[in-house]
Amino acid sequence: MTARAWGIVGLVVVLLLAAAAFWVRWETEPPVLAAQGETGELFVGAKPTTVTFDLGDGSGLRLFAVRLRHADGEAVITTTEYPGDALTGGRIPYETVDVTLDPATLGVPQGDAVLVAELTDWSWSGLLAGNTTTVEIPVSIDREAPKLSVSSGLTYVQRAGSGAVRYRVLEATADDGVRVGDATFRGYPFPGGAEGERIALFAIPRDAAPDVTPKVFARDRAGNEREVGWPVRVQERSFTRIPIRLGANFMEGKVPSLAGELGIEGDDAVAVFQTINRDERARNEEAIRAAVVKSGATALFDGAFTQMRNSAVTSQFAEHRTYYVDGKSVSEAIHYGYDLASVSGAPIEASNAGVVVHAEPLGIYGNCVIVDHGLGLMSLYAHLREIDVKVGDRVAKAQRLGRSGATGLAGGDHLHFAILVGATYVDPKEWWDPKWVRDRIAPAMAAALP
Ligand SMILES: [Zn+2]
Repeated sequence: MTARAWGIVGLVVVLLLAAAAFWVRWETEPPVLAAQGETGELFVGAKPTTVTFDLGDGSGLRLFAVRLRHADGEAVITTTEYPGDALTGGRIPYETVDVTLDPATLGVPQGDAVLVAELTDWSWSGLLAGNTTTVEIPVSIDREAPKLSVSSGLTYVQRAGSGAVRYRVLEATADDGVRVGDATFRGYPFPGGAEGERIALFAIPRDAAPDVTPKVFARDRAGNEREVGWPVRVQERSFTRIPIRLGANFMEGKVPSLAGELGIEGDDAVAVFQTINRDERARNEEAIRAAVVKSGATALFDGAFTQMRNSAVTSQFAEHRTYYVDGKSVSEAIHYGYDLASVSGAPIEASNAGVVVHAEPLGIYGNCVIVDHGLGLMSLYAHLREIDVKVGDRVAKAQRLGRSGATGLAGGDHLHFAILVGATYVDPKEWWDPKWVRDRIAPAMAAALP
């Protein structure tokens, strides 16, 4: 080939390379820009809020700018320029950026605003201006805690007992109710009440601190929270300690057969019992806590609860049990219910109206039924021989749930009966007493005065 021909070939190659480079550098693909997590409305309160953005582009990131458009104008939140040049593009193809909104330092007014995030790349597109992606997120700025007032007057509540309170919150809440130490009790709309009127059942957990003070709280969607106290007298009480001797029949019969059902292995009956009483019990309580959060927002119970018909109390609520084998203490537990004994296979009836939320074996509780009475109040029936209801059944007071038995961690035929307010076990004796229900619960639930 002649020099001229070589020249033409060279020119064609250079042109092709330039075209290829141009093709690559001229891309019109908009950069990837997305906020992590919830992409709906952003509620920003008094505390700073962080939004995490994922950024990415084949030509490289060039400029990331975030501003807040509000009623009075715009506030610049962040502007980041990324390294690169027009010829070879950007150095950084992707990044994750935390953007913090602090309405206090930005000096933006309360109310609606829009968070505008813009990302530009190093493409030659748009006469070298690059491609730009814009994301807009609606923002609601609210720096004030909800207005909250308690309508209930002086309230008496017993340790390990229940109470009710009525209050009013003048804003939509993300969460509200009663806090007692570490325990939280959800609030529910008061039926037929004024706007924002709410009711909460609460309890003083058996092991709450001696000086514990219940407080009503309300938190809005922006995370602002207010806590309000009201006059509450907590009546102290003590609980008995009971030794329970586990005999050979129980250790050689019940323990291995229950261990078999639960898939717990081991040759040492004491060690197996310890595993059941500690680990299996903890697992079962977790399942119960998962069931109680599903409580309905309407009160389904009517008046006092009923104790099992013709039953004798064989074990008290909240006693501290120490288990002994051959004179040696091997395990402990708090007994959060009443043991009620009647004839073997006695009918077990719903202690009040409600909806069945659990109806199957549950570890140490054996065949177990849990009935939701609404407002976070539930009753639990354990060790049944048979269950006659299924999850979702609406049951009337005294409707049969099954028959008593000795399934689970039970030495003989009896009903283990418990009542929960939220995730806290409470003394059922109160709920069995019509006068107590009338004096302590009914006033907070009574129709609002005109
Ligand atoms: Zn029991």
